[in-house]
Amino acid sequence: MLGLMQDWPLLCHKIIDYAATQHGEREIVTRSIEGPIVRTNYAQIRVRAKKVSQALDADGFKMGDRIATLGWNTARHMESWYGIMGIGAIYHTLNPRLFPEQLAWIMNHAEDKAILTDLSFVPILEAIADKVPSLQKIIVLTDEAHLPKDSKLQLEAYETWIGGHDGDFEWMQFDENTACGMCYTSGTTGDPKGVVYSHRSNVLHALISCQPDALGIGSNEVIMPVVPMFHANAWGIAHTAPMVGAKVVNPGALMDGASIYELLDSEKVSLTAAVPTVWLMLLAYLEESGKKLPHLKRVVIGGSACPRAMMEKFQNDYDVDVIHAWGMTEMSPIGTIGCLKPQYQGLTGAEKLDLQEKQGYAPFGVEMKVTDDENVELPWDGKTFGRLKVRGLAIANAYYGGAGEDQFDSESWFDTGDVAHINELGYMQITDRAKDVIKSGGEWISTIDLENLAVGHPDIQEAAVIGITHPRWDERPLLICIAKEGRQPSESDVLEFMEGKVAKWWMPNAVAFVDEIPHTATGKIQKIELRKQFSEYSFPDG
Ligand code: ADP
Repeated sequence: MLGLMQDWPLLCHKIIDYAATQHGEREIVTRSIEGPIVRTNYAQIRVRAKKVSQALDADGFKMGDRIATLGWNTARHMESWYGIMGIGAIYHTLNPRLFPEQLAWIMNHAEDKAILTDLSFVPILEAIADKVPSLQKIIVLTDEAHLPKDSKLQLEAYETWIGGHDGDFEWMQFDENTACGMCYTSGTTGDPKGVVYSHRSNVLHALISCQPDALGIGSNEVIMPVVPMFHANAWGIAHTAPMVGAKVVNPGALMDGASIYELLDSEKVSLTAAVPTVWLMLLAYLEESGKKLPHLKRVVIGGSACPRAMMEKFQNDYDVDVIHAWGMTEMSPIGTIGCLKPQYQGLTGAEKLDLQEKQGYAPFGVEMKVTDDENVELPWDGKTFGRLKVRGLAIANAYYGGAGEDQFDSESWFDTGDVAHINELGYMQITDRAKDVIKSGGEWISTIDLENLAVGHPDIQEAAVIGITHPRWDERPLLICIAKEGRQPSESDVLEFMEGKVAKWWMPNAVAFVDEIPHTATGKIQKIELRKQFSEYSFPDG
């Protein structure tokens, strides 16, 4: 017998309909690419999203067409997502930090038909547009006055493009499993791989992420996604915030400490989210300026492991709670969140930090396990680490075009490529990327643990650990550090600081000081590049 309930397809434009109906006046504030802070609200976002749908429809774009976006977090970017999805087309976020050739490769792979770009990225498009034959239209997310006049490309101003429409448009209707969004992984190994989200998976992901033990947000929240919309959907916030009517503050193109601080303060942001490198800049700014964060209550940190020292600073010096989270583009992206179960509520001080170093536990809709290389499941004991595998309701079941087939098994378990352990209460801790783990004398050493420990040293700004070939032990750890400005720690200072805090055989064999550590387009340490830089290195002890 089937249930007798209504069939109410989970379509993303229902989120913005809801926001406009119930929270129409709730603000979306943006530091615009043109400069000034601009304000709009959910009611206006919906009308303008419908104008985007009308403009796309009038230009002949159809269901299933890939419409690329190359933009910072702004209200225009948000409304264009909803407009694209509203005709059953697919927003395809592009990461402007990738090399132009990689962008052209990705656009060709996805066969993007049109692109909506911020002013800042017109030069990138000028370099690659003729290499993307599928591209029919370039819209610049600005008005006529700011549209570059001397470009070799045929550009159209967004405001003019949507300006000819009245917003009187019925969203198109289709199956909830229809594709609505696309995002490629950075491809640190091999070609980038396309993840294709569905309306259903995005709506369910948003429902999951607003739960109290996830982002825990409601209409009273003021949320600033510093994590860009092109990095795994801004961790879902462009869907989650309208679903609950939270105020959104978009940082636009400026992510330096002073600019982020200005918005946190002037807009009274209560929750924000970004990768650790962004928070390093903010914390350095706060330290220099002596400013405080009276409005901010919580900060979500993910994308790379959050160093313990960063959690301590936020919590002890600024009274801001850190929520450590783990996820992946392939997971929409939320995988685990570091909220405290009742068993951990009483934790304080070092014990609380010990727990917060873990990336947290899986919410409803995410199943996980760790296995050895033979796919045998390992115990949840908080120490046995192995390959982390996941499945669930907003997790990819394949990549676009069939790449990376070996990462998915017949029971839908997706091999994340991360190495982790899980404790008795389900709290997971990433110890490495499988390709970065150091194999020393047949045992594994976690580079993440060593890096986090090293940045706890007061004179160290950033640290990375790579394995260097060793005649006796196969590989041994080399610690590569950037010193804080004006500080000159020595190798023995750093090693003495670390001693006793990790197993003796995990201790780095040497420390190298550098001026710069390379990062990927999503803010992760680029270990492949570091390994290249240190390919000739050998330890002083042989
Ligand atoms: P990309 O692969 O495009 O750089 P993703 O955000 O999809 O971007 O990367 C996902 C990977 O980032 C995870 O598999 C994991 O290795 C790493 N990661 C994400 N969050 C954390 C975290 N809190 N701690 C450690 N690693 C993390």
